[in-house]
Amino acid sequence: MIPFNKPPYTGSEDKYLLEAARSSAIAGDGAFSKKCEQWFELSLNVKKTLLTPNCTQALEMAAILIDIQPGDEVIMPSYTFVSTANAFVLRGAKVVFVDIRRDTMNIDETKIDAAITGKTKAIVVVHYAGVACEMDSIMRLANDKGLFVIEDAAQGMMSSYNGKALGTIGHIGAYSFHETKNYTSGGEGGLLIINDPKFVERAEIIREKGTNRSKFFRGMIDKYSWVDVGSSYLPSDIQAAYLWGQLENADYINGKRLELWSLYYEELSSIAEKGLIELPCIPNDCTHNAHMFYIKVANLEVRTDLIRYLKENNIMAVFHYIPLHSAEAGKKFGTFSGEDLYTTVESERLVRLPLFFSLEPQQVIKVCSYINSFFA
Ligand SMILES: *Cc1c(COP(=O)(O)O)cnc(C)c1O
Repeated sequence: MIPFNKPPYTGSEDKYLLEAARSSAIAGDGAFSKKCEQWFELSLNVKKTLLTPNCTQALEMAAILIDIQPGDEVIMPSYTFVSTANAFVLRGAKVVFVDIRRDTMNIDETKIDAAITGKTKAIVVVHYAGVACEMDSIMRLANDKGLFVIEDAAQGMMSSYNGKALGTIGHIGAYSFHETKNYTSGGEGGLLIINDPKFVERAEIIREKGTNRSKFFRGMIDKYSWVDVGSSYLPSDIQAAYLWGQLENADYINGKRLELWSLYYEELSSIAEKGLIELPCIPNDCTHNAHMFYIKVANLEVRTDLIRYLKENNIMAVFHYIPLHSAEAGKKFGTFSGEDLYTTVESERLVRLPLFFSLEPQQVIKVCSYINSFFA
């Protein structure tokens, strides 16, 4: 059986997990958490990063930081994971969905302007499959209109746009280290990336249950107390220890994924040339991280047949997302701005193929040969 996903595991996580377990400090902000955050701050060239228990909570922190109030409007694509929307809905925001581009499945930057009203507070971009949104025009528009840009870069670690790492372009960014992503901190994990320095101090407070405990630990004050709203957004140091093993191998993991991605691309190019499927599009200004390999088929019916055929041959392929604006909660908490030209039709054509760190090139060739024979 070729599974759809296996969590990335390099072997070097073991010794760090043991080291963390045997240390006398495994709560949040321990030695491995600090090491991981420093690694990100150096490699991303940003002032402050904070590990979180998952990306969902990093997005929730972003919503608190930009002070979302009931009735505020937040613009985002409908083709995304629920957490992109929930984080803002939890604070009372109304979600305004904008259509996606057919080529990258990312928010259509040319349709954002028409969705902006006097109540709009932020644009949340989602870099689908680790391929960047058109950030130059989105940042220009946001600056013109005085809006915040939050990057849901859950899938975007190691990807860049015009040389800038995803998650570091807007005011705030978020990564996920869930087991389905390129790097994991033991199954669940996330990172808040703070690009606008004015959010740093408050982010530390919100993450520490609304207290100024981080300042206290740095010796800047002699006691800590409750100063703001907050929650507990710290992962345990065991999670950070696992992640540290992956960060040490970040380039190796990325290289291996890119090779598998390219192999898929090559093996499927002849049926793409015949117009039977479409392959992913990577715009020139984007360097991607091979987060996923998807193909697009003619329609929902062909997709259902293809997934069934692959499953009969022990290959697990999957689809996602059901557009949020068509879901029960999406109708309650959001509206679609403009016309749904691509969100629904394109989402119904998309199939994700197995792609994970320990997948073998021979397995990619096998998956492709079944796809080729399906279309033959
Ligand atoms: C995975 C994912 C999330 C959620 O990440 P968690 O770490 O599981 O909370 C949010 N947004 C997108 C686009 C994702 O792919």
